[in-house]
Amino acid sequence: AGIVGILAFDQVWNVSKFLYYSLVGLQHRGYATSGVALLDGKIREKINDVPPEDLEVDIGGWAGLGYAGTRRGYPVVTDDAALVIDGVIKVDLNEFSKRLVTDPESAILSAKGAFSLIALTRDGNLIAYRDETGLRPLALGGFGFDMGIIASEPVAMWVIGGEFRREVKPGEMILMSRLNVSTKQLREPRKAYCSIEYVYQARIDSYVNESEVYQVRVRIGELLAEERPLEADVVIGVPDTALPFALGYSRRLNIPLELGFTRTGSPIRTMLASDDFLKIVGVQLKLNPVRGAVHSKRVVLIDDSMVTGTTLKNTIASLRRLGAKEVHVLIGSPKLVSPCPYGVEVPEEKELIAANLREEEIAKVLGADSIHWLSLEGLRRALTSSSLCMGCMTRSYPKVIQ
Ligand code: SF4
Repeated sequence: AGIVGILAFDQVWNVSKFLYYSLVGLQHRGYATSGVALLDGKIREKINDVPPEDLEVDIGGWAGLGYAGTRRGYPVVTDDAALVIDGVIKVDLNEFSKRLVTDPESAILSAKGAFSLIALTRDGNLIAYRDETGLRPLALGGFGFDMGIIASEPVAMWVIGGEFRREVKPGEMILMSRLNVSTKQLREPRKAYCSIEYVYQARIDSYVNESEVYQVRVRIGELLAEERPLEADVVIGVPDTALPFALGYSRRLNIPLELGFTRTGSPIRTMLASDDFLKIVGVQLKLNPVRGAVHSKRVVLIDDSMVTGTTLKNTIASLRRLGAKEVHVLIGSPKLVSPCPYGVEVPEEKELIAANLREEEIAKVLGADSIHWLSLEGLRRALTSSSLCMGCMTRSYPKVIQ
């Protein structure tokens, strides 16, 4: 999920538009449902079963919170505060928000799980915390000297012309009031950054978990070229996530990169789509292959991940209809074989094609000439960090406080 909190240091500001556009900047993290809560004397909320873009933020306030994701009912509003969470938290939220107001430190230390949290108290303070694993991202920034912003990714600040200052450290709490911003390290970091953030969750122009997402993705493309150098006429990547993979692959092997797809409508992510119609035809609704780029060519098609395989199957069928001679598929992440217990949308094992079929069988089902996933070792090399969660690819999960 994408979460954001904004606080104006002067009450004359109305932050609702800032909040709205920040949230739209985070909708790649989940768009099935969204909501905001704004504080202007009292907390008022607007929660709808619609993508952030369609949320009508017709309430004003000088501080607010926003949520974009798959869980209904966020922000949670209690008698004491409003809360948004990315990840999983085990605590009674009513009791928790009461304690957050009186003693934020002990309240947070009593919460279990893997999460990033932003709370807005009724007396006008923003409280944020990123748990000590750092599994879910969180960043700190602002808008000049006028506003403080805390959000899942810096893009939530950049899209409204704000500045990103730094990432919130794992185990760190931020307290922001109209008068000052203070921070406290509540728990020793035990970093286990979510590797899926780099591969497809974060936006291409973002900075998460100590890395530029774009650079990591180009590097993944280069490593795919080392692992599986193919003889082909053209490389195409599925926009937007896989474009840097395709760029890295193309440069490394001197195979031309072509613009293989053009967009129709808003960039809905098929993997997160809740409705079967969208899941099945989603790819055609959002992306259409370009005949001139693939006709009579041996095509390397690069995508970011494979869940059920339905989207890729449709894409490959379209490429063949347009006259592609061969279609070789490369996936910029290792095989997804197990669900995510920390709130990222990875379905149950029985739905994950890579957990159930062998590679040749998958290539056959998809109608591809060949298929290759980035190796686990390749992903580790691309990320140059050993503090990673790779649970949905290895079935070995980091320890979180239960
Ligand atoms: Fe990320 Fe996968 Fe770990 Fe979940 S299990 S936090 S999606 S790497």
